Amino acid sequence: MKKHNFSAGPSVLNQAVLQKASKAVIELDDTGLSILEISHRSQYFNHIITQANLLIRELLNITAEYEILFLQGGASLQFYMSALNFTKTNGTCGYVDTGTWSSKAINEAEKICNTLIVASSKDKNYTYIPKLNFINSKLDYLHLTSNNTIYGTQFHQFPSKIDIGQQNTNIICDMSSDILSRKFDINYFDLIYAGAQKNIGPAGTTIIIVKKDKIKNKNLPTYLSYSTHINKKSLFNTPPVFSIYVCMLTLQWIKEKGGLSKIDEINRKKAKLLYNTIDQSSIFQGIANKADRSIMNVTFKLKEEYKQLESKFNSICMEHGIVGINGHRSIGGYRASIYNALNIESVKLLTDIMKDLNNKL
Ligand SMILES: *Cc1c(COP(=O)(O)O)cnc(C)c1O
Repeated sequence: MKKHNFSAGPSVLNQAVLQKASKAVIELDDTGLSILEISHRSQYFNHIITQANLLIRELLNITAEYEILFLQGGASLQFYMSALNFTKTNGTCGYVDTGTWSSKAINEAEKICNTLIVASSKDKNYTYIPKLNFINSKLDYLHLTSNNTIYGTQFHQFPSKIDIGQQNTNIICDMSSDILSRKFDINYFDLIYAGAQKNIGPAGTTIIIVKKDKIKNKNLPTYLSYSTHINKKSLFNTPPVFSIYVCMLTLQWIKEKGGLSKIDEINRKKAKLLYNTIDQSSIFQGIANKADRSIMNVTFKLKEEYKQLESKFNSICMEHGIVGINGHRSIGGYRASIYNALNIESVKLLTDIMKDLNNKL
């Protein structure tokens, strides 16, 4: 039985995409070769990576000042690489600390520049998105994490550069868990990075969208320089061919579905259904601050007085093929990740189970 996969990452992929990908493992189109066998220098792969590039450009309305790259090393390498490319020694880099991933980004940047935490929600275990005040220091860049996968919070509005006194500061954003989930203005950002395995494809590639004129540091170890990969069009060394192929298929699927406005609408519908169920329940409660709730990762828990229902709820979920809803070990409770490829039917099933458990009390 196909499971309802609510995992945070690697996560659910579209079924039609999986079918095409599985076919290509045996033979890619009519090439007589498996996608796993083709050369990354072949015309076949050139077509795939070009398509993937164009689709990202089209779906996110990306102008010519930006380059799109497919690299390896995950978002985790980008914590270091982004700092390395966007600052010079002794620069000051601003960070908004909204959870585990932001903290990891800060730890890496500390090896390169002077980090300044301009806002943090650590005081309340990262259950909200902090407001930014006017920043007096001149920053080389400001780093944000648009969606906090573990805590279930998300920036619904990005800080106004004018209000925080950083009109000309570069903005770097880790969008690993909400890229391509909603519409946003690309022009606000100078560098975006996102591991593919949350909302785009299988693990193995990381998508980088970078405004090439904003790169400050060019004299770097070859592999760690964005300029290298820009010049070589992501083919400096062997790229993860299969991962990029499945990303391309997913991007095609998003486009066929109606692009980001449609995806945005469906994602909000799914999130609303789940949050309404939580809010109307007498046994469950949400974890994140309501105004900052994520439309991708929904965190909730059983109320203290209903803790004893835990094993019952877990086993009903298991019986119905619902997997991946356990909260991250750092916050406990539950986390339902409802990425693009998760059907609304799966969300309906989960909410029906939650309502049913409530009604049977
Ligand atoms: C998962 C995740 C990461 C880590 O990604 P890797 O590709 O495993 O390095 C970083 N940031 C965010 C927001 C994430 O959700």
